[in-house]
Amino acid sequence: MSSPSPIPGVLDIAPYVGGDSKVEGRDDAIKLSSNESALGASPRAREAVRKLADELERYPDGGSNALRHALAEANGMDPARVITGNGSDEIISVLTHAYVAPGDEVVHSQHGFLMYPISTRACGGKPIAAPENDYTASVDAMLAAVTPRTKIVFVANPNNPTGTYLSADELARLRAGLRDDVLLVIDAAYAEFVSRNDYGTGRELVDRFDNVVMTRTFSKIYGLAALRLGWAYCPTEVAQVFHRVRGPFNVNAAAQAAGLAALADTDFLDTARRHNDTWVPWLTDAFDKLGLEVIPSVGNFVTVRFDGKPGLSPEAATAFLKSRGVIGRGLVPYQMPGWLRFTVGKEAENRTLVAATAEYLQSADG
Ligand code: PMP
Repeated sequence: MSSPSPIPGVLDIAPYVGGDSKVEGRDDAIKLSSNESALGASPRAREAVRKLADELERYPDGGSNALRHALAEANGMDPARVITGNGSDEIISVLTHAYVAPGDEVVHSQHGFLMYPISTRACGGKPIAAPENDYTASVDAMLAAVTPRTKIVFVANPNNPTGTYLSADELARLRAGLRDDVLLVIDAAYAEFVSRNDYGTGRELVDRFDNVVMTRTFSKIYGLAALRLGWAYCPTEVAQVFHRVRGPFNVNAAAQAAGLAALADTDFLDTARRHNDTWVPWLTDAFDKLGLEVIPSVGNFVTVRFDGKPGLSPEAATAFLKSRGVIGRGLVPYQMPGWLRFTVGKEAENRTLVAATAEYLQSADG
């Protein structure tokens, strides 16, 4: 008797492992491993979730109508083209299931977000990693990786875990080089943190073309990762495909209520943005002064090289930092084994991270 077996590709998936959250024997660990918000969620969002505790017997609105309309209004979009998901992870996964058949190909950049190859393999598709330049996606390499079997090109902009980005012009060049039947998914999970003049979220490409989707999330700057809430702006046809494949109540009621409240709290958003604008350069400079290579980041995290010098190792650094209560993220699954990624924390957390790193470097030296 043979046992049930999944479709080809599924068993090739290395399951996604989230950032560590615990240090044995301590309850004061500083978790800088998952690009969560340093400042938590808006008080208005927290209040919205508390209120919901009295209505837990009700199904949520399966169309996320109030939230979709609020997102559309805030961004000048047609609500019929705004979709919501159980995290942007779900949107990535559902779109991949809807457009990729076994044997089809999906292009992503070499150090791109892991859910792209995972979702592709889950459909029996073939992920194709296009080489990057200096830890930045290369439009030419991605276009060169496209074949007649390509169904989707994913690009995270900015990318996790590198923190680098493509300019609006480069994104436009990527779209211009694709066939019209290839879906371009621009994952702008960290868009709110970016303040560069040449950056664009990709929404103007969604306005203009029928094969471009922009995904966003409430998990990062809005601090709602626990609730799982993502959204996307799509061509009408893609939105209709998404609604056919998604679960009927894919976004829970707490996520919808908190998302609506968070969206209205623009002061909180500004505060979170200012915090990041202060601490990304501070951390970058501090690691640089310690003699460590840092990739210039426009996200809410910095990625630092720990194998650049004799005596250093990312594993030893991870263990040392943990002994000081600090949890970073190893990047072996992203084919960056020498690097660690640290999310921006609160001021004291950032200072502890840098002090502990300095201490590690001294111990490695001696
Ligand atoms: N895209 C990128 C680039 C990310 O870093 C993440 C979170 N790790 C996601 C998408 C998924 O975010 P969520 O499912 O929480 O919306």
